[in-house]
Amino acid sequence: MPIYNFSAGPAVMPQSVIAQIQAELPSFQGSHMSIMELSHRSQLFDQVITDAEADLRTLMQIPDNYRVLFFQGGGTLQFTAAPLNLAIQHHHIGLLDSGHWASRAADEATRVHTKVDILGSSAATHFTTLPTLNQPVATDLDYVHVTTNNTIEGTAYTTLPVTGTVPLVADMSSNFLGQIYNVADFGMIFAGAQKNLGPAGLTLVIVRDDLIGHAKHLPSMLDYQLFATKRSMFNTPPVMAIYAAGLVLKWLKTQGGVAVMAQRNRQKAALLYDFLDQSTLFNNPVAPADRSLMNVPFKTVSPALDTQVIAGATQNGLLNLKGHRLLGGMRASFYNAMPIAGVQALVDYLATFEATHKGVQSNVSN
Ligand code: PMP
Repeated sequence: MPIYNFSAGPAVMPQSVIAQIQAELPSFQGSHMSIMELSHRSQLFDQVITDAEADLRTLMQIPDNYRVLFFQGGGTLQFTAAPLNLAIQHHHIGLLDSGHWASRAADEATRVHTKVDILGSSAATHFTTLPTLNQPVATDLDYVHVTTNNTIEGTAYTTLPVTGTVPLVADMSSNFLGQIYNVADFGMIFAGAQKNLGPAGLTLVIVRDDLIGHAKHLPSMLDYQLFATKRSMFNTPPVMAIYAAGLVLKWLKTQGGVAVMAQRNRQKAALLYDFLDQSTLFNNPVAPADRSLMNVPFKTVSPALDTQVIAGATQNGLLNLKGHRLLGGMRASFYNAMPIAGVQALVDYLATFEATHKGVQSNVSN
């Protein structure tokens, strides 16, 4: 029985990459040392990080005036690092309140004495829609924070909010490399690797170079300028995670790049959304125009039935479908490495479940 992992993160990685890691683990490129045992100052690792950056630049068409930085600390540390590095002139940022991770970002910015204005919120719809900017953006903001894909609520921006001359800072943790965005539309993008790129422990930062270097006396580990100068090797970087992410980037190139992935991701998402929309048992509450390609929350009429759905799915090799604890129900995440066959298997299972539970109607209209 094939096994499919629908986890929201850490999440499925390409099987060929896992196989390559396994094959190379005892001796990396004939060195008789594992990648885990190699110095970050070695020539071998230097090539790994150089290639990873070059491949990411190619895949995302990153302009030359943007720096690519490899951090630790997850997406969460960037909630702190972004205001410390970029909110220097006004100590004041705008934020689109699109759900849990946006509000975590607001909290962390406030902790480092940055004033946060909520420029739009979809709290009134329980975040089943995306917030829109409800006024022209004031120019006394250092930047506007947007969460391009809301992992828990299952929404994603296709059209970006227009912020004029105020830079947009994007938390792209859950749809990094999963759909096409134009890097030049952002002042900064950051993403934890553990969803669409590789293992946990690595966070990518892509930042326009004129925005960095203005903050004084930052802790070294939070200093974008220092990391840019030291090629992300100010201290020991997460060698293993960078290596694995580098392999995923090479895999992405062989698959045809982000455009091909985005097309596949649209196909995968449509399979499940089309099923849910015609179902009388299962329901996805998100406004169709705002739906994520990566994370799909859905429910039946009762938590008890949801538990049965999840248990039956697990027996059928469809793993990690339990919804986020804030929302309950189910959530299917399908990042780039999830094959279309996995989504088809999920839809087939849900259809069978529904057929065997006839008479249980959804209490929410589709
Ligand atoms: N932002 C988003 C959109 C996320 O989905 C997550 C993690 N689920 C985070 C930030 C936090 O990431 P981390 O756990 O890497 O700190």
